[in-house]
Amino acid sequence: MSADTISEQTQSYEFKAEMKQLLNLIIHSLYTHPEVFLRELVSNSSDALNKVRFRKLTDTNIIDPDDELRIDIKVDKEEQTIEISDNGIGMTQEDLVSRLGTIASSGTLDFIKNIKKEDGKIDANLIGQFGVGFYSVFMVTEEVTVETRNAENDSQAFRWISFGEDNFTIEEIEKEKRGTSIKFKLKEEYKEFAEDWKINSTIQKYSNFVDFPVYVNDEKVNTVDAIWQRKKDDITDEEYNEFYKFVSGDFSDPSERLHINIEGNINFKAIVYLPENAPPTLLSQENQKSLHLYSNRVFIQDDADLLPDYLRFLKGVVDTEDLPLNVSREVTQNSPVLAKIKNILTKKILDWLTDLANKDSDKYTKFYKNFGPLFKLGSNSDFTNKEKILPLLRFESTNTKNGEFTDLEAYITKAGEEQKEIFYVSGQSRESLERNPNLEYFKKNEIEVLLLIDPSDVFTVPYLGAFKEKLFTPIDKADIKDSKEENEENKIEDEQKGSLIKVFKDTLQDKIEDVIESKRLVDSPVTLVSGKQGLDPQMEKMMKMMDKNFQSSKKILEINLSHPLIKNLSKMNLESGSTVDLRNAIEQLYESAQLLEGELQNPAEFVSRIYSFMEKATEN
Ligand code: ADP
Repeated sequence: MSADTISEQTQSYEFKAEMKQLLNLIIHSLYTHPEVFLRELVSNSSDALNKVRFRKLTDTNIIDPDDELRIDIKVDKEEQTIEISDNGIGMTQEDLVSRLGTIASSGTLDFIKNIKKEDGKIDANLIGQFGVGFYSVFMVTEEVTVETRNAENDSQAFRWISFGEDNFTIEEIEKEKRGTSIKFKLKEEYKEFAEDWKINSTIQKYSNFVDFPVYVNDEKVNTVDAIWQRKKDDITDEEYNEFYKFVSGDFSDPSERLHINIEGNINFKAIVYLPENAPPTLLSQENQKSLHLYSNRVFIQDDADLLPDYLRFLKGVVDTEDLPLNVSREVTQNSPVLAKIKNILTKKILDWLTDLANKDSDKYTKFYKNFGPLFKLGSNSDFTNKEKILPLLRFESTNTKNGEFTDLEAYITKAGEEQKEIFYVSGQSRESLERNPNLEYFKKNEIEVLLLIDPSDVFTVPYLGAFKEKLFTPIDKADIKDSKEENEENKIEDEQKGSLIKVFKDTLQDKIEDVIESKRLVDSPVTLVSGKQGLDPQMEKMMKMMDKNFQSSKKILEINLSHPLIKNLSKMNLESGSTVDLRNAIEQLYESAQLLEGELQNPAEFVSRIYSFMEKATEN
C-alpha cells in the first residue's frame, strides 16, 4: 500500500491488487439479495459494540463509558442517503488502512469468483461469509464516507472516503464521541432503501436478534431478546430459524437444531444448529467461528474453545452463568468451566447425531456428504468419544451403489464371525478403485471392501486400529489365504516359476522391493502392493503433493502365475532365456501396474514401447 500526500491533512492510499479485483467484482456484478449490505453494516456495528461492552467488564477508562450502547440509522428519502452510526470500539488510523484496505483471508477472491454464476450474478448473502462484508455496501452506492474514533481517551478521529475502485483517502477530523458512522448516497436503482419501511423490514429480517437496540430515524425497530433463555415450547420454528440465520450469516434454514439447558455442577444453555450446506471453506483453518459464547446474556466471543475442531461446522450460542464476572480472553482460554461445557456439549451433540442417523438416514447421509470430510477427523483425534464416533462414520463399499453409504456396524454384521478384518482400499475415485487389480480376489470371494475416496479417509481409517475387535486392513497388505478354487494344474511349474521371477527381478532391479507369486489376482497378470515399510498408497500420493522431494516407498510386484500372458512369458524364458523382448514385456507390465495406480512417471517411454509392440504384432 502506498501513501501519496494530496494535501497536508489528506492522504491517499491505493488498494492492493487483490482488493481492486474484489471491488471490481462487487461493483460490476448483479446481485441477488442486495439488501444484505444492511445486515453486514449492522453486524459490524454490533461487533464493535460487543468489543466495548467486553472491554467495560474490566476497564471503564474510555470515552463516554456510560453512554447507552446503540446503533442509529438515519435515512433521508429526499437525499437518498443512509447513515449508520454506532458508539462501538471505533477504528484507529492503522485499523482503517489495514482492516478496511485489505482482504483478511487468502483465497477469498477465488471463492467470490467461484460464486459468480454464469449469468454474472453474485448471491450477496455469500459475501459476508468471507470476511469482506463491509464492501457489500458498494453494491448500492458509488461513494462511502466512514468517520470513526477509537474508544481510547486520547484517540484521534479520522475520515475515510472511497469510490471503491482503486484508492481511498484518510484525513484527520474532529469527532467528540467514540464510534463509527458510515454514510453513503444510494444509486438510483437502489433508492428504495431510503424508505423507512424498507429499512425496517430488512432489519427485522436480518438483524432482529442484534444484541443492541437499533433505531431508524430515532425509532427502535428490533427486539433485543436472548432467545436461548426462553422455554423451548414458547419459541416458534420461524424464530429458531431466524435466529440461526442471524448467528450463522447463512441464508437457508438450518437442517436440524438442538436446544439444551444443563443444570447442576455446571450450568449453561445452548442452541446448536446443523447447517443445511457446507461452506467451501469447510476444511480451512480460517473458518473457525462456531458457537458464540455469552456470559449471562453478555456476548463474550465468537471463537471460544467450545467445541472440538471436527465439530466446528455447527453454529449457535452457549450462555453460561458460571464464568467469573470480569471475564477476559485469557480467562476463557484456560477456563475449566469452558472445558467442562465442551465435554458435555460434545457428548450431547454426538448423541444427537446418532439419533438423527437412526431416525432419518437420508438426512444423516446428506449431513455426512456435506460435513463428513471434517467430522470424520474426530474418529482419531477425540479418543474419549471414539466409541460414539466410529458408528457414525459412513463409507462407500464394493457392496454399495455409487454415492451410497454403508456403516461399520452393517459391514461387520454382513462379514460374519469368521472374518477378522475390515478391508479397505483407498484411491481418488470409485471408478479408478473398481479397476484396481487388488480387488479381484475380494470380488471373486464376495468379501466387502470399503472404498476410501474422500481424502480425509486416508488420514483417519489407517489409524483407527479396530472396530469391535475387527482390524482395519488395507487390501494391498492383507494376508490373502489360498483360494480354495485355485486351479493348481493351470499354473507354471515350480522351477520355471523360480526362473521367471528371477528374470523379473533382474529386469526391474531396485525399482521394486520384491517380486512374488500372487494369491490375490484373478483376471490381471500383475499388480503392485505396498512393501514392508509402505504407507497407504493414497497417503503417499498426498505426501508427494505436499512435498516434492518425498520418496515413496518401494512396492512389491505380484505376478499371477495362472494368467495366459505370464505363462507365455515363462515359455519365452524357457525357450530363449532373458531376451530383450522378454525384458521389454516385463517393463511394460510393471509400468502398466503403475499406470493403474496413477503412479506412472514416464509415459513417453511407456507409449513408445507400446508402439514397438504394435509394430511387431502388425508385421506378417
Ligand atoms: P469482517 O467484519 O468479517 O471482519 P468486514 O469487511 O465487514 O469484515 O470488516 C472489516 C473490518 O473493519 C472489521 O473486522 C473491523 O475491524 C472493521 N470495522 C468495520 N466496521 C466497523 C465498525 N462499525 N466499527 C469498528 N470497526 C469496524
